[in-house]
Amino acid sequence: MVSKPPASHPAMPSSRRGSSVTLITHTRNPSHLARALYLAPQLAPHPMLSGAAAEATGALLGVRQVDPSYFWTEARWKEHRRGLGLPEDPVEYPRPEIPDDTNSETTDVASLSDDKDKETWEPLDLMPTGTVGAVALDIRGCIAAVTSTGGRTNKLVGRVGDTPVMGSGFWAEEWERDGGFLKRNWDRLRGKSKYEGVGVSGTGDGDYYIRRAAASNIARRMQYLGESLDEATQNVIDDLFKEGGLGGVIALDREGNVALPLNCSGMYRGVIRPDGVPLTAIFFDEQLTELTTNCT
Ligand code: ASP
Repeated sequence: MVSKPPASHPAMPSSRRGSSVTLITHTRNPSHLARALYLAPQLAPHPMLSGAAAEATGALLGVRQVDPSYFWTEARWKEHRRGLGLPEDPVEYPRPEIPDDTNSETTDVASLSDDKDKETWEPLDLMPTGTVGAVALDIRGCIAAVTSTGGRTNKLVGRVGDTPVMGSGFWAEEWERDGGFLKRNWDRLRGKSKYEGVGVSGTGDGDYYIRRAAASNIARRMQYLGESLDEATQNVIDDLFKEGGLGGVIALDREGNVALPLNCSGMYRGVIRPDGVPLTAIFFDEQLTELTTNCT
């Protein structure tokens, strides 16, 4: 999602601000699919597409498709079972055959085998894990946000979480600052843009994020309550927590302020500012610190 259409695509209508996909099983990088659909308004006029239709359109646009087994690794599966206190063996998920052509650019979705009958799933946990998100600001003040996830483990078949839902798991928007003639001129004198904007990517228990429209709520708090980015993100995260929703958000405003609040023990997070130095943190009470790489 973008706060306004990118300068590289001047013909893009200003009302078109993003695309999302869900129920994806073959697309190697779902965020590439969402981007490709966004940039193809003729083929994908809607803001959200799902399943085979989304993937077939993506394949037409050259987005790489793979067999679902591509996403499975035995080591990860065992680690997951260990974490749940389950025996590592037997490995119930069918051992996958990774197709030779995983390096090819596209694969015909229809030709991929559907081995669902062979899958056997144990009841596992409901802990959210493995979500990635990013928010970026360019020199034109355009903010872009993306979130991608495998979703909650052991969710019901057909469950759609917050991650592909605009306004819940991600959001980007800009609006004109409120205020009369004097305020606008004062802002101009201080070098402030007449626009405000925000981009958000969230991770956590998405059912709560959906019910509270968590990501777009941050924008509304900033716009209508005049809250800073820090206040708005913290308030939304606190509200989620009051209801039992654990998680966090990464957010960026049009002035380059960054907020990374969480209401759980940890969230892998990081910032890269114009100096190019990555700052990262993991645990709740950890400050962002410079990444040090030990190369031997
Ligand atoms: N929000 C995701 C979901 O509920 C999970 C996550 O962020 O880890 O599906």
